[in-house]
Amino acid sequence: MRAFIYHRADSPVHAAAAAIQPGGKIIAGGTNLLDLMKLQVETPSSLIDINRLPLDKIEETPEGGLRIGALVRNSDLAADSRVRQHYGVLSRALLAGASAQLRNKATTGGNLLQRTRCYYFYDITKPCNKRKPGSVCAALAGFNRIHAILGTSEQCIATHPSDMAVAMRALDAKVETINDSGENKIIPIAELHRLPGKTPEIETSLSPGEIITAVTLPPPPPGVQLYRKVRDRASYAFALVSVAAIVDSARGRIRSARLAFGGLAPKPWRSPQAEQELVDAPANTTTFNAAAEAVLKDARGFGDNDFKIPLTRRTLHRVLDEMTRA
Ligand code: SF4
Repeated sequence: MRAFIYHRADSPVHAAAAAIQPGGKIIAGGTNLLDLMKLQVETPSSLIDINRLPLDKIEETPEGGLRIGALVRNSDLAADSRVRQHYGVLSRALLAGASAQLRNKATTGGNLLQRTRCYYFYDITKPCNKRKPGSVCAALAGFNRIHAILGTSEQCIATHPSDMAVAMRALDAKVETINDSGENKIIPIAELHRLPGKTPEIETSLSPGEIITAVTLPPPPPGVQLYRKVRDRASYAFALVSVAAIVDSARGRIRSARLAFGGLAPKPWRSPQAEQELVDAPANTTTFNAAAEAVLKDARGFGDNDFKIPLTRRTLHRVLDEMTRA
């Protein structure tokens, strides 16, 4: 790890102003950043510690939703009684991520901004367009078992690793930010993460120095909620495929559905076409297959990750069957 200057921020604006300086980097839980620094994937010249800012509350909104401070720890969010009761998909997604120790440190804002776990991104001896723009993507012709099948580009096929963000995508969360001038912005979570295109090094729509202060959940949607994660180990592993589903059905007919997927794309993936296939349709194999085909219409495997296509189909089928069974 290289030497760096340590600052403790005394306000969100101060943090944003310090983070906009060349080499400035915000640290909260540090569960991803410190790993990256040890491997010299990240080499910040200054770290701005925001842990003492008053951004650690979960509050009810006048609209009937929840406002989650950016520094709320993953374990506290998963255990909150309001989250468990009304946003079960979020609580389950959080508990499916990492280990108990990591969840105790990891924050809501940091979880959204964590970097991909592509092996080549973490190995500074290998070429990687995301780490070093204009080099090459080693995963394309390399070992790509954990990589994306949707939303990829010729420049990068990495997945976004968060479970929490997938549930928040299904819940249509909104992300609140502040910049160094004190200006606040609200970004729908669908617009927070970017697809790689020709610039895989730009991962979010945040401007330099702009920091996340909170995430707002709208009132809970009708229906049952479920998070299903398929991975190589029973715990402490990233998703090969995950599904965050919110489905409202009665007497074998689906009224509404929201589906978000993890492990498949460079961002939490939502498929409006698949959801449309489910609305006002009978809860049966034909309907579930039509939804899966819609999700996977543009899917492309790269060899080692080809298995994700049938795995997604089967996982979605199982989830929908379970959620609509009377
Ligand atoms: Fe780098 Fe993306 Fe290719 Fe991985 S998939 S090597 S992160 S460019």
